[in-house]
Amino acid sequence: MGGGITLRLSSEDFHPAKKDGFGPNWPISYEEISPHYDFIENFCGIYGRKDDIKEVPNGKYIGEIPLTENENVFGSKVKSKLNYPFIQSRGFDRNSSVKEKNWPKSSSVGSSLKKALDTGNVQIISNYLVESFEINKITELASKLTIVNLENGHKVVLDCDLILLCASTISTLRILLNSEYKSNSSGFKDNSGKLGKYLMDHISICRFFSVPKAKNSNKSQDNPPDLSGAGSFFIPFGSNLPEIDDINFHRGYGIWGAINRLGIPKFLQKDANKSIGFLIAHGEVLPREKNSVSLSRKTDEWGIPIPYIEFEWSENELNMAKHMEKTIQKSVKAANGKLKNINELMNIPLGSLFTKNLIALSDSPPPPGYYIHEVGGAPMGLNEENSVVDKFNRLWRCKNVLVLDGACWPTSSWQSPTLTMMALSRRACLNIKKT
Ligand SMILES: Cc1cc2nc3c(=O)[nH]c(=O)nc-3n(C[C@H](O)[C@H](O)[C@H](O)COP(=O)(O)OP(=O)(O)OC[C@H]3O[C@@H](n4cnc5c(N)ncnc54)[C@H](O)[C@@H]3O)c2cc1C
Repeated sequence: MGGGITLRLSSEDFHPAKKDGFGPNWPISYEEISPHYDFIENFCGIYGRKDDIKEVPNGKYIGEIPLTENENVFGSKVKSKLNYPFIQSRGFDRNSSVKEKNWPKSSSVGSSLKKALDTGNVQIISNYLVESFEINKITELASKLTIVNLENGHKVVLDCDLILLCASTISTLRILLNSEYKSNSSGFKDNSGKLGKYLMDHISICRFFSVPKAKNSNKSQDNPPDLSGAGSFFIPFGSNLPEIDDINFHRGYGIWGAINRLGIPKFLQKDANKSIGFLIAHGEVLPREKNSVSLSRKTDEWGIPIPYIEFEWSENELNMAKHMEKTIQKSVKAANGKLKNINELMNIPLGSLFTKNLIALSDSPPPPGYYIHEVGGAPMGLNEENSVVDKFNRLWRCKNVLVLDGACWPTSSWQSPTLTMMALSRRACLNIKKT
């Protein structure tokens, strides 16, 4: 996880339809996942502060990364003037591992995969692509997995007792679609008709701003603290949003931000008396049938169909983005700051040429896929008519295949997803070990 942010989903996030009636709920509760959050946070060594905000439940933290002076001032202004929630972000420290030249713990190579390899029970088969699996028609269990050698295109069929799919949402959907009965006569049946549908991402808005320098901020200006998952802040609204005009959309969002952490040298700053910050709002996207992954008629060089993605923002997301824009404006104003574009903040030679095509900074929200938090397509649920996997991530009609990554999400929430993916994976794996 590049940003290193690890926020928990809230109790409400597991049952959002209870509040607004739209779409599915998760088949599990916060209480069921909470011990697994505890474990993963301990395992990864997460920093954070217990702020007691129900939209982002407290976790297990090994310490706090202090906010910059300007961030503290910003936080106190948005809290006192606007009554907005404000917390230190939670996540990884940026990279004691960089200094030590190790893989960071925010990458599986530096954490979970490393631990797995240490057991001596893991073999990595590199440079192979998983194409599909086949089931034994009598047992209705997966028994064979086809993999392709990426150096020479040769296909190899492996026998298997258990398959844990975590190839990332779209790749996992591709494997599932290639293994489904519709395209593979030895494949599994999805009786819900939902496989590949209800794909989600987060919708986002990114804005830069300047604020008057806080006292003592000179020190941090000379030696700026790192920006990291834990070294930053959040305005974590969730669906508890401030009433700015009417709220004409479902669900909610949070705003990630930082001030004085970008390490911009003084000579590049247009006004050395100001501190530079950014705010990035990211919001929940509703599960909609039309947003989907299917198999393209085109194939890759190995003859395997590639994924075809259809996705557009609905009115709900676009209305949410307008609300995000207004809360960002209000927050910056409350902190006596000004929203500015990059060229107004920095002396970049030919800067406008460079920044004009940056979609992150455009007035309208960047397109789906930009935030790279894709989830959904094989949602978990309470019965096989309405979901692709059961509450322990198993395909209903092929119980030895577990969908562990974002593909199993029935709703997207607004928080960065990977901590929850890991907690769900642990829960599902402990269950399969038990059975
Ligand atoms: C720039 C950036 C910043 C991010 N920041 C955050 C953050 O701060 N917090 C957060 O929670 N999330 C963050 N994310 C999202 C996070 O990275 C993903 O949620 C997470 O990596 C998903 O994990 P995964 O194991 O499902 O997929 P991946 O990490 O993508 O791993 C999938 C693996 O499967 C392999 N694979 C794919 N298809 C096949 C196949 N057919 N056969 C064999 N192998 C295959 C891939 O090569 C890859 O190694 C960020 C993402 C990006 C891009």
